Amino acid sequence: MPELPEVQTTVNGLKKTVVGLKITSVWSDYDSAYFLGSETIKDRAYFKKFSKEVVGKTVHSATRRAKNILIHLNDGTKKDSDVTILVHMKMTGHLLYGKYEFDQKKKKDPWTPIMPEALKDPYNRHVHFVISFSNGSELALSDVRKFAKVAMISHGNETILMESSHLKDIGPEPLDKEFTFDKFVERLRLKPRGMIKQVLMDQQIVAGIGNIYADESLWLSGIHPAQKIEEMFVKGKPKPCLKLLFRAIKDSLAKGVSFGGDSMSDYRNVYGEKGQFQNEHHAYQKNGMPCDRKGCKGTIVRIKLAGRGTHFCNIHQR
Ligand SMILES: [Zn+2]
Repeated sequence: MPELPEVQTTVNGLKKTVVGLKITSVWSDYDSAYFLGSETIKDRAYFKKFSKEVVGKTVHSATRRAKNILIHLNDGTKKDSDVTILVHMKMTGHLLYGKYEFDQKKKKDPWTPIMPEALKDPYNRHVHFVISFSNGSELALSDVRKFAKVAMISHGNETILMESSHLKDIGPEPLDKEFTFDKFVERLRLKPRGMIKQVLMDQQIVAGIGNIYADESLWLSGIHPAQKIEEMFVKGKPKPCLKLLFRAIKDSLAKGVSFGGDSMSDYRNVYGEKGQFQNEHHAYQKNGMPCDRKGCKGTIVRIKLAGRGTHFCNIHQR
């Protein structure tokens, strides 16, 4: 699943491509009985409402909150945005920008990518939602597993937006300056009995961390993923390993962004290209490999922890 660095990479791409463009139409073939009555475009009645609201509007800006992409719209003249399209890519979704040809006679797969070339990558060919712009370009959501979420939030200002049901319970942003070591410790203390990996991935505790960056951060800081939070304190004071973990989280997320995200799985940037962070892993999906920490003779092993594949060194992460 795309995590903070992948979502940020997409948002960085949107800033360079769709800001200032006017929406001329929207299309989707998401249609799920399971989502009937939900406030997402998988409900067809909601999609009609969505379409009416966003067509004719202009993209004002794009930002990220946790793993959510926020595309802010306005009427093209007013300064502030009053409606926001929210996209959560979930397991396999990713947004793509370019030119497509639409063939309405085709029931399945009516969108054929024209350019850029990378849109033709098979991972980019599962288009289920498209925004068309007045300059003849498209923003398409490829999503093979169809778990992605697209919704809109009408709001008067940023505070109302952040208090919407989609966003209100999310924890602090780990790359923010205000996210200090004390803040991190305060968040962890909310789950004293929790296992550290599971707590790191809890979006209400800290935003944006998933399986890849949790495994990598724990490897960097030498912490066993099943370690209980309460065991990481001595007489109420955080053990030194927590300071290492705090640094490791910031470093690995920042590195993920600078490498354009992780494309070990389906993720691609808005141009349809792979990120490079998958070449930087020390633990994630490295099971059976010798640990590459200097002087460590360990091996990376894989276990299931709370249902998630978890990778760690059997020597230096204890
Ligand atoms: Zn090791």
